[in-house]
Amino acid sequence: MRTSEVNAEPPFTETETQPPQFSDFNLHPLIIKAVRESGYETPTAVQVQSIPALLQGADLMVCSQTGSGKTAAFMLPALHKLAEATQKPGNGPRMLVLSPTRELATQITAATQKYGKFLRKINVASVLGGMPYDKQIRALAKPLEILVATPGRLLDHMQQGRVDFSRLEMLVLDEADRMLDMGFIDDVRRIIAATPESRQTLLFSATLDRSVAQFARNILRDPVRIDTPSERTSHGDIEQRLYYVDDSAHKLRLLDQILRDPALTQAIVFTATKIHADSLMHRLTAQGHNVTALHGDMRQNARTRALNSLRSGELRVLVATDVAARGIDVAGLSHIINYDLPKAAEDYVHRIGRTGRAGATGIAISFAAPGESAQLRLIERFTGQPIIAHEVPGFEPKFKPVNIAPSPTRPGARPSNRRPLGGGGRPSGVGMRSRGFR
Ligand code: AMP
Repeated sequence: MRTSEVNAEPPFTETETQPPQFSDFNLHPLIIKAVRESGYETPTAVQVQSIPALLQGADLMVCSQTGSGKTAAFMLPALHKLAEATQKPGNGPRMLVLSPTRELATQITAATQKYGKFLRKINVASVLGGMPYDKQIRALAKPLEILVATPGRLLDHMQQGRVDFSRLEMLVLDEADRMLDMGFIDDVRRIIAATPESRQTLLFSATLDRSVAQFARNILRDPVRIDTPSERTSHGDIEQRLYYVDDSAHKLRLLDQILRDPALTQAIVFTATKIHADSLMHRLTAQGHNVTALHGDMRQNARTRALNSLRSGELRVLVATDVAARGIDVAGLSHIINYDLPKAAEDYVHRIGRTGRAGATGIAISFAAPGESAQLRLIERFTGQPIIAHEVPGFEPKFKPVNIAPSPTRPGARPSNRRPLGGGGRPSGVGMRSRGFR
């Protein structure tokens, strides 16, 4: 596999002073109309780089996260192509999007319907695990342009001979790193093997590490590689805070207090396990909070209900595990709370990226116990940024890793001094002492 590097440089001349516009891409006018109606003013970085390359027919390997506008980055040019009728006979999908989770697949389907709403004859179907078969079987029997699927259920339908890939032109592997993490690699390989070699293939991943690169090697042809390098560290609109906790009782009291902050409009609270998500949900409910849980052991309709109530603003607090919360796009989440620290540093980035979306600001709070310094260090190394310790007056930890700075940055949140790790710079405005925590 050879890759052509495209780094952050948009395909516009240096003399261009205006930021790139959607109208620069020569997309179908009815797609531009839908984009305008969506309220997007300018394309995001990943859109600026991906759209022209896709229109030219290139394979893509894109390092980008949910929240960057990546769905439109592949779906707008795809719709442009699909608006043109195909000469190939058959009913099968012309585009397949594989997603690791049902929630992400549902979001992709909704975004596709939004961007394609003015185009005629673009039929979209989704084939997801945990949902009834009948509707999916009927959808697969009809003429289809776009199929959005999770790997297991798609393979199931394929084995029953219900999927015809003979017209397939485009394959998107969304959140490929997560698909590999979740053990879908064999299913994904078998699905890809059933698609025509002539297809255009796009791989999106939050990280392009060795395992993703190895996987990509056999399925992409001379891909254009697009890195939106700031993604990993540029949570500029998200204030990251750390609160030290002595034990689980202290953690629960602190969470209760934080959730009572009127500035918190909506939050996702992340736990390490499904059982923990359920038990925390019950405790918070008993404390009078408006809360529900979201995790992989719940039935799909309960998961959908939980997400819909978060989106509609009915629900204030969602307690979730990583897998269930992957790819969730809910506008207006003011807070992300890592009640339990994530196991992998990448998950930290995914979690906090649920807030501060599309230009909004957000607060990401992490709780850490005395024994969790190694996990914190990994996260800080990964993001290249220190997470500044704060205290809530009246809820200070007995265990104080460092001296607490007296100057509050905002009411109710006192920053404490902590030596930044992983080579991160000294945060401005906070007096630093040489005596660090670790
Ligand atoms: P995604 O990364 O595809 O999950 O998109 C994240 C969010 O950004 C979604 O709510 C999109 O509706 C929104 N979005 C996508 N493209 C743009 C854009 N160019 N301007 C503003 N918002 C956008």
